[in-house]
Amino acid sequence: MSRVLVIGAGGVGSVAVHKMAMNSGIFSEIHLASRTKAKCDAIAESVKSRTGVDVATYAIDADDVSATTALIGKIQPRLVVNLALPYQDLAIMDACLNTGVDYLDTANYEPRDEARFEYRWQWAYQDRFREKGIMALLGSGFDPGVTSVFAMWLKKHKLKTIRLLDILDCNGGDHGQAFATNFNPEINIREVTAPARHWEQGQFVETPAMSNKQMFDFEGVGSKNMYMMYHEELESLAKFIPEMERGRFWMTFGDEYIKHLTVLQNVGMTRIDPVTYNGVEIVPLQFLKAVLPEPASLGPTTKGKTNIGDIATGEALDGSGEKTFYIKNICDHEDAYAETGNQAVSYTTGVPAMIGAAMMLTGAWQGEGVFNIEQFDPDPFMDMLNEQGLPWTVEELDGPLQF
Ligand code: NDP
Repeated sequence: MSRVLVIGAGGVGSVAVHKMAMNSGIFSEIHLASRTKAKCDAIAESVKSRTGVDVATYAIDADDVSATTALIGKIQPRLVVNLALPYQDLAIMDACLNTGVDYLDTANYEPRDEARFEYRWQWAYQDRFREKGIMALLGSGFDPGVTSVFAMWLKKHKLKTIRLLDILDCNGGDHGQAFATNFNPEINIREVTAPARHWEQGQFVETPAMSNKQMFDFEGVGSKNMYMMYHEELESLAKFIPEMERGRFWMTFGDEYIKHLTVLQNVGMTRIDPVTYNGVEIVPLQFLKAVLPEPASLGPTTKGKTNIGDIATGEALDGSGEKTFYIKNICDHEDAYAETGNQAVSYTTGVPAMIGAAMMLTGAWQGEGVFNIEQFDPDPFMDMLNEQGLPWTVEELDGPLQF
């Protein structure tokens, strides 16, 4: 019996729950809890009509450790899948410790008052999880998640070492809105406006946000401007691929997105410190989130594809010298919407969350303590990507990126 509790009923939670219902041999009972129960009910209704599977729903404020502990105690799942926001990570990990239940998430903890993406807060749970005999799997989305599994697959099957690694994340989708973000706007804007950081010669090098721009021709999308930025998997990849000389992360943004973001930043709307408005304290970025389109609402109108992958250079396993491989997935927004009612950014995160959960529930990945996705055998996860709607390809390139 593999009873699972999913917390968070946004786009990612919706995709994960739909895909769990489509794999009822692994996920025999699905429970969904979130701050707004109506969102859980809407997902349960969609899952029922698409798959015939029932999903039990609950309201929960996951910042409240004792309420979450009580809910987990009542449901008694084998695994809690945290698809709420990064702010809730530690509170949900505490509730898992209180109840002795395994934990999985897709984004590392961030304090609300500081845009810092670091694993140290969650890695600090290592001893407590090990002593309790439970497992936490961190970062089981696409990036972080699949991009790290891609790197480890290359290290297992193609390259003895990875000297250079570039992660390229392109969303070539068009949602028809002047400005919207494809996942939670608050988290997205905090990430994009933070200084860029890349790994070079054993340390992180910081540069101003969006200051390194390059053009790249993405298969299925075309030529796009991409910007170097910090992304949390660089920290775990630097740890688990110790020989890596340089690791960088790139994401594409359209000119319209940059124009709107620049204005919002210039007028102070992306600030995360409270300001007083009419005698009430508000955080400008949280207010901005409230007026922007909900990412889940972009599904019906988004057309185009995402293309996310890794370009890795290192010593070939077969002894043939240094080689470069490009491994990637291309996902179509309209296909993702037809299958689960959500666009591809939610789809490419929710499917790997389901697969990570399947790895834990089937025993393919086991352990006691806190683990990053790089620490497990990539093969069963890569097989499920092919079977579950995120097929990948690998090709050899002439050499690393020329910039
Ligand atoms: P959404 O904002 O669409 O959904 C978040 C959900 O969490 C909402 O249903 C929200 O409830 C709920 N929630 C927020 N706070 C609480 C709380 N205190 N208690 C209970 N529920 C709460 O986000 P997404 O679905 O787009 O993203 C979900 C997660 O996935 C995020 O952590 C995001 O960073 C991560 N992500 C990871 C990616 C990856 O590739 N690794 C890519 C994209 C996203 P309400 O509706 O009431 O606000």
